[in-house]
Amino acid sequence: MKIIFFVWPGLVPSGFKFNDLRAMAVTDKLLDWIRPEIRELSAYHVADASGLTKLDAMENPYTLDELTGHWPEVLAAAEINRYPDPSAAVLRDKLAQVMGVPEGMATVLGNGSDELIQMLAMVVSGRDRCIMSFDPGFVMYRMIAEFVGMDYVGVPLDEDFNIDMAVTRAAIEQHRPAIIFIAYPNNPTANLFSAADIEAILQMAPGLVVVDEAYHPFAQDSFMPKLVDYEQLLVMRTVSKMGLAGLRLGMLAGAPALIQEVDKVRLPYNINVLTQQAACAALEQVFVLDEQAALIRNEREAMLKALAALAAVEVFPSRANFILFRLIGHDAGKVFASIREQGVLIKNMNAQTGALKNCLRVTVGRPEENTAFITALEKALGAA
Ligand SMILES: *Cc1c(COP(=O)(O)O)cnc(C)c1O
Repeated sequence: MKIIFFVWPGLVPSGFKFNDLRAMAVTDKLLDWIRPEIRELSAYHVADASGLTKLDAMENPYTLDELTGHWPEVLAAAEINRYPDPSAAVLRDKLAQVMGVPEGMATVLGNGSDELIQMLAMVVSGRDRCIMSFDPGFVMYRMIAEFVGMDYVGVPLDEDFNIDMAVTRAAIEQHRPAIIFIAYPNNPTANLFSAADIEAILQMAPGLVVVDEAYHPFAQDSFMPKLVDYEQLLVMRTVSKMGLAGLRLGMLAGAPALIQEVDKVRLPYNINVLTQQAACAALEQVFVLDEQAALIRNEREAMLKALAALAAVEVFPSRANFILFRLIGHDAGKVFASIREQGVLIKNMNAQTGALKNCLRVTVGRPEENTAFITALEKALGAA
């Protein structure tokens, strides 16, 4: 039994944090009301990047200084005393046009595509229903399945991180997933799955199939045109990796009858007025973002070459704005720490699953950032 401290609001020190257990504990009896699956989760951890070159989160390193015209005025004119357009109709039209949504398809927007994954999970959740994806894969599919009380089935990829069709077919037959999420390209492995394999999955899936194209600007390959061929297909996009991560905006496209159902669980004003205005203005000049994506794709090729030249590194193919690599004869944790000490933050994937053993993941940044990373890596390998 823990003791409850009542803290009078006026006495709360300014540095007080509600997760500070010394300041306020609650009884186990109270915590018993929290679902056991939730209590077992650990909160999504975001590393502190202050003072470091940030190559850990697949962000576009370029700013929007190049955007000309009325960008600041648009934001200044936004009516923040009013609720935003609940369906964000203008923005949805603009996104559908920029992202090539086929005629006759509907769209729904999310506060990042993470929110769309959550909405999809909510509309299919129920006892004995599961969400399926691939391992190693995007962690939010598993986490959100757990949030809504669904089982998650992670089908193992083969050793080259491609889809193992025999294993996948058996898993689909056994588990009959309500939704199969396919990240195209995959995160954290960066490769693009075979389009033929995905079409085969579309033919055998009993439920919905969501192709998550978060990295489309770097893969330049899409299932969007295939929406007209498969009623069970939904295509998800985000503006995050194309350079607008701070806006939090994702789009789901598919058959109107399905999108209508997803839209029912959307909170009424989920896309705030500043995001609606800013995204519309930025998409007016989408060529700026396209040029940045082209720079990043070029830099990716240079980085793949630089990494491939290192004997202690096994580098995996990338169609995204990040690269996964494995260290040979060196400890990934130590190399990661050494690189961070030299001022560059990347992502340590080592702990995640067996398949990512001794792997690190680096986001493609500006040329000088990438050079700093390669230099730091070389130094880490030489010193280790
Ligand atoms: C980054 C990422 C997302 C999340 O995008 P947001 O729109 O920022 O929520 C979705 N799917 C994959 C595979 C990602 O890597």
